[in-house]
Amino acid sequence: MDPTTTISWFRRDLRVHDHPALVAASATADRLVPLYVIDPTLIHGRFVSPVRTWFLLESLRALRRSLRERDSDLVVRVGDPRQVVPAVAREVGAGAVHVSRDHAPYGRARDAAVATALAADGTAWHPHRGNLIHEPDEVLTRDGRPFSIYSPFRRAWATLPARDVVPAPDRLPPLPAGMYGTPATGEIPTIAALGLDLDAAVAPSLLPDPGESAARRRLERWAELGVDGYADSRDRMDLVDGTSRLSADLHLGLLSPLEVAVRTSGAGEGRRVFANELAWREFYAHVLAHQPSVRTASFRPDFDSVAWSDDDAAFRAWAAGRTGYPVVDAGMRQLAATGWMHNRARMVVASFLTKHLLIDWRRGEAHFMRHLVDGDIASNNGGWQWAASTGTDPQPYFRIFNPVLQGRRFDPDGAYVRRWVPELAHVPTQRLHGPWEMSSAEQAAAGCRIGSDYPDPIVDHAQARARAIAVYGAARRTS
Ligand code: FAD
Repeated sequence: MDPTTTISWFRRDLRVHDHPALVAASATADRLVPLYVIDPTLIHGRFVSPVRTWFLLESLRALRRSLRERDSDLVVRVGDPRQVVPAVAREVGAGAVHVSRDHAPYGRARDAAVATALAADGTAWHPHRGNLIHEPDEVLTRDGRPFSIYSPFRRAWATLPARDVVPAPDRLPPLPAGMYGTPATGEIPTIAALGLDLDAAVAPSLLPDPGESAARRRLERWAELGVDGYADSRDRMDLVDGTSRLSADLHLGLLSPLEVAVRTSGAGEGRRVFANELAWREFYAHVLAHQPSVRTASFRPDFDSVAWSDDDAAFRAWAAGRTGYPVVDAGMRQLAATGWMHNRARMVVASFLTKHLLIDWRRGEAHFMRHLVDGDIASNNGGWQWAASTGTDPQPYFRIFNPVLQGRRFDPDGAYVRRWVPELAHVPTQRLHGPWEMSSAEQAAAGCRIGSDYPDPIVDHAQARARAIAVYGAARRTS
């Protein structure tokens, strides 16, 4: 009998642990081709991100090492997967292609086209679980509709049975003869070779270690030392280890969400609250799968006609972390330097852009997608629309975060602001979140003159709040 050759096509599942598609592909194959296709449409498309591309390429290098340890290798090609995957399948005579199912609109359209092209050549297409714990068609209301609010979604999601975690294979079937070694396996390029360069503000030493092994170390540390205190630590922007820092790992599939859930499950409030956050990730993935129009339009159509401001100077001040509101500026500078921002800060800066500055959430969404290592179309869009009140938040639009109170509550000693806004390092804590209230003598003592060393607030909170309520209210009435 002829040997069977099978392809395991990696996308957002760059791991060997808990990988049902890889295991299924290996089980039926004499020869296995682990394949990754660098897709220029994703690298250079709507949301270009040098820092996220760097994390991807370095994680591919780590995956290649891990596959080599298992007597295999990673075959890398560059191009449109719609042509490349069927071409590789023909080249190696593959009988089947196995993947982890992708639920985002681009991935779904791409996969449908690849599956059709493969079918024309008689090659089978096998999608598997792996990117989510529960699939979008599994978490539905009693009358079979998608949930539009998180809490009932989470209740339904939490009652569903999950599959077992799959161990990593010790060894993999060999590559087809002649495919070992470069050039046959293909080079993994640098970001420079793809025409990208890290932004000047990025501090490379503050970026997360890429690759599955580093992600597994983060998970172990979190499960042992962090998760039990999560209920109290999660909102504290000043705590470096208050949250798991697993978002980029989950985004790229260096960890499977199921394995993260299982490893962190158990008794206690911290573990319960942490599971809720994993459910948020799935909720937004399901929202995007069921309502792909949210990519460009409001989840709630009644807010599609908000009269957004086109104040570019205000947008630039926000992006540069120079709004004069310390907690907003700390968040934006943390993002620029590290490719990550604390969740509480994300909510505050997103609310500030859309409510205080009345700037379209899509501009903030795009800025985040450029700078976030964990930039994820579903979670980012969901987070932005939530903060802008155009999305799934059941709270009314006139709940507007006060950045001063948020700072006092979730950065009580000011360590977060002092870390990221060093101009304010010597401002006394009671003035830190509203430094414009310092007297001249206090400014001199703190070595920080408001208006020159650190900006005056670009808007007044009370006036901005009133303007937002009026503009949002008008949009509602005209819809
Ligand atoms: P933890 O608090 O440890 O949470 C564990 C995991 O749960 C996270 O890694 C993440 O996968 C998931 N999670 C937690 N909170 C949320 C949430 N609100 N929505 C969806 N998933 C969540 N998260 C992204 O992964 N990518 C994004 O592009 C993204 N953009 C956001 C934009 C805005 C405006 C807001 C308000 C939130 C956004 N989030 C995004 C959600 C959240 O801020 C990050 O997941 C979290 O800060 C990552 O840090 P962590 O891994 O330490 O989180």
